[in-house]
Amino acid sequence: MSIAEDILQDHGILSTDTRSKVIEYILRKETACSLKELQHALAITSRQEKPVNKTTFYRTIDLFEENGIVHRVDDGTGIAKYALSKHDSAEGKWHLHFRCEVCNRTFCLPDPIPNELLSIGGNHHVKKVNMVLQGICEKCCENLPNE
Ligand SMILES: [Zn+2]
Ligand SMILES: [Zn+2]
Repeated sequence: MSIAEDILQDHGILSTDTRSKVIEYILRKETACSLKELQHALAITSRQEKPVNKTTFYRTIDLFEENGIVHRVDDGTGIAKYALSKHDSAEGKWHLHFRCEVCNRTFCLPDPIPNELLSIGGNHHVKKVNMVLQGICEKCCENLPNE
């Protein structure tokens, strides 16, 4: 069984071609992907045999979001991106994102958000966190000319 099928089964979702392909693509990318990018990638992998239906595609993303397989990242660009959620850890939900202004990649940072930050709102109950750090990623820093 592939990792994608494994993830689907863990969430009690039936495996379909589109579903596994979307997960496989996000897994490979390791960065948050826009819907446009995902759709484009699917169109290529399906080799025109059976083009991916738009409605099926959007339903797939909705289903994944509802089930916590992916999460939406608003990185300030105005384009919603989706990243794979760490399905094996509950605290994987609370993490920061990083957007690189050089290569334009947005990705999840591995460390959980410190609890002190989440309790700043006093008795407010935090249900969703959307924090994005912006700067120059590790890879791009390496490629910067030394000054
Ligand atoms: Zn970068
Ligand atoms: Zn994330």
